Amino acid sequence: MEPIQRRKTRVLKLRDLYIGGDNPVSVQSMTSTPTEDVTKTLGQIRALESAGCQVIRLAVPDMEAAVALAEIRKATDSPLIADIHFNYRLALEALKHGIDGLRLNPGNIGSEANVMKVVDAAREKRIPIRIGVNSGSVEKELLEKYGVTPLALVESALKHVAILEKCGYQEMKISVKASSVPMMIEAYRILSDRVDYPLHLGVTEAGTEYTGTIRSSVGIGTLLSQGIGDTIRVSLTADPVKEVYVGFEILKALDLRQGLHIVSCPTCGRTRIDLVTLAQNVEKSLDHMREIPITVAVMGCVVNGPGEAREADYGIAGGIGEGLVFRKGEIVTKVPEDRLIETLLAVIREDFPGR
Ligand code: SF4
Repeated sequence: MEPIQRRKTRVLKLRDLYIGGDNPVSVQSMTSTPTEDVTKTLGQIRALESAGCQVIRLAVPDMEAAVALAEIRKATDSPLIADIHFNYRLALEALKHGIDGLRLNPGNIGSEANVMKVVDAAREKRIPIRIGVNSGSVEKELLEKYGVTPLALVESALKHVAILEKCGYQEMKISVKASSVPMMIEAYRILSDRVDYPLHLGVTEAGTEYTGTIRSSVGIGTLLSQGIGDTIRVSLTADPVKEVYVGFEILKALDLRQGLHIVSCPTCGRTRIDLVTLAQNVEKSLDHMREIPITVAVMGCVVNGPGEAREADYGIAGGIGEGLVFRKGEIVTKVPEDRLIETLLAVIREDFPGR
């Protein structure tokens, strides 16, 4: 099958990470600790980094948070984005402390002179600015003209884009998030026909871990499958580390990212082993190998099980109180149910010593 053809966008640099063009779609998240609490925030940054998060955004609601960025910057090499609303001074302070990107809507920070001050400071280090419009923040006159529609989101974003372009600055990416999945899909589609700036995808206020995962996967996944989107943020009312896991799973589901793929059957009346627990334990035990591109099959029975398990790099097919362990199409051994996981893991470890 042909891989997804991504739409061509300009390329931005966030520290050592490139966004847009042919660069892989990146996964980002946002800390939920008070930014001025440096210890807590760094703790969360570490957790996000271990989960593979590639860009970390921090809320900068006041000067205390902006000043704290200095210490946070010294302690991490991850690309950091300062999320700023209304106050251009916070943007200048954040830039002073070495952040790598701004999320800021230039139309919301006052006079043209203020915008120019921020743009000039950003330009010095080529710091990209993300224009982030969402359905809750569209200007009144656009709502009157278009209602709450995809077009209103796009027009609002383009107004902010025009301000930066007028300042002669094009280092930007754009988001047009909505909590309605069909609305954000349409808004990004329209926007992607109108500009070639990289697009940051997300469903805003997506919900709790379960519903938010589904809504984000449908919204972000639909757009990515059409080649739209250069970086993604899944927003969940949950630990931000979960957002990163979901983000990577969306990319893996579309073959936009390589990594561990666990295939498991839904179980049925033929299943004679506790496959649900087995599959969960396999997933947990292999979590530290999630960036390795292997497929591991966990199948419930000998009817379809061995066939599927054979196609995977490694696999288990359950029997009655026992199961087969496979590697690259070959049966390695048959063991009792309670030794299936350890045997599977031992076989995988033989091929990846030290993991
Ligand atoms: Fe049922 Fe076997 Fe298919 Fe699993 S692999 S769903 S146990 S037939």
